[in-house]
Amino acid sequence: MPNPQPSLDQITALCKRRGFIFPTSEIYGGLHNCYDYGPLGAVLLRNIRNLWWDEFITKRDDMVGLDSQIILHPQTWVSSGHVTAFTDPLVEDKVTHKRYRADHLIEAWLAKHAEEPKWQDFVVENLDNEQMAEFIKKHSIKSPEGNEVTEPKDFNILFESAIGAVTGEKSKVYLRGETAQGIFTNFKQVVDSTRVKLPFGIGQIGKSFRNEITTGQFTFRTLEFEQAEIEYFFDPEQQDWQQLFKQWQTQMWKFVNETLGVDADNLRWRQHTDQERSHYSKDTYDLDYRYSFGWKELWGIAYRTNYDLKQHSKHADQNLEYIDPQTNKKFFPHAIEPAVGVNRLALMVLTDAYWQDTANKRTVLKLKPNLAPYQVAVFPLLKNKPKLVEQAKTVYDHLKNHLAATWDERGNIGKRYLYQDEIGTPFCITIDFDTLDDESVTVRDRDTTKQERVKISQLEKYFQTKLG
Ligand code: ATP
Repeated sequence: MPNPQPSLDQITALCKRRGFIFPTSEIYGGLHNCYDYGPLGAVLLRNIRNLWWDEFITKRDDMVGLDSQIILHPQTWVSSGHVTAFTDPLVEDKVTHKRYRADHLIEAWLAKHAEEPKWQDFVVENLDNEQMAEFIKKHSIKSPEGNEVTEPKDFNILFESAIGAVTGEKSKVYLRGETAQGIFTNFKQVVDSTRVKLPFGIGQIGKSFRNEITTGQFTFRTLEFEQAEIEYFFDPEQQDWQQLFKQWQTQMWKFVNETLGVDADNLRWRQHTDQERSHYSKDTYDLDYRYSFGWKELWGIAYRTNYDLKQHSKHADQNLEYIDPQTNKKFFPHAIEPAVGVNRLALMVLTDAYWQDTANKRTVLKLKPNLAPYQVAVFPLLKNKPKLVEQAKTVYDHLKNHLAATWDERGNIGKRYLYQDEIGTPFCITIDFDTLDDESVTVRDRDTTKQERVKISQLEKYFQTKLG
């Protein structure tokens, strides 16, 4: 059995206390399902984005990047099916008129009955609206306030906006519900303007928007979030989609487990049932992470076939077919889509790294050095001793050119260690009185708390080995 996960309250408190994540606009009372990333959270997100981009775009010869608009031509969302099918089942509390997702109320009820064998393999996603209504009635499921709820109705989660200054002349647009559509609408441009040949993929990172109803799972489900999506295009007559699909699954797992250093015990694959699968997909798997509130989707992979390119070709009256340069065969390539939320990756790494070290009475974020906002912290033992401060500044200024380094001279050494442990800094360097004689510093390891003396001249090499 894997280690127990920290509670969501523990994660939320640490994020706020140390400047990773804050509720947005808190001075105005906040806004449901919206969060801001503070100084450390911003760096964590950037580190995740960079690692993703590096591994899936920069280092691969068969991938190119893209940065498309948030506001696309509104017809895009009609063609893709989102205007009609991008819905969640919504119920309303009959007394408070607050809205909830029917499937989430059922999931919460199932969690309370998890011990009963009858419910252990029950998949909520298999129920349509009518079946959910029956289930809610049969088991007298109430809203979180304890009131009866209405029958589930489809609620479209696309965010609407308008272009134009004058009322009446405004035209309706949508904030993108996924970054993927910008990839499909640019497919032909990318093929014509670059030297890509099938099989190849286009990836992009950017904000998406969904009018989500659920509250209370911190940054897991927010109205505005960042997606990192790939469409990998191929000719199904030349390549076995199942084999490609498996290769992408392996890459996804490797990124989470090895690059981000997440415990494999907290990861699992789950295949979507026929009922649950999106309108465009032939097969879908979720890579689930064991969040504080249970196993939940981290990263989805779907075989979208040639649905999207065909739809856009038809509705835009443009031929988006690919022409094989060798055979001149004309066809709509098929696509496999690995799609992940950068914010869900961030919440996962924070959860996985959180460690209550009871022996040493401290909270530690065991972040991998490639994720940590700071890789080393440099301290003078005492801040009122100019010689120590001067020597420490020299070390700090030098390391800053090579590593993510931070300066800390507040409070005593013990407090500085506790602070750096909580923000996940892998190493602390202290410049003390001995340094002035022996040109060595004390390096303390976050996870083991072990300390060793290292020559200043050797520090750069030392960290090259330690931080990888
Ligand atoms: P869910 O079932 O959790 O609503 P989904 O299946 O609708 O997610 P996709 O459309 O497959 O999600 O989007 C791809 C990825 O984008 C998800 O795996 C998730 O990591 C992320 N994502 C989707 N919706 C949100 C959201 N509201 N907030 C944060 N991340 C999200």
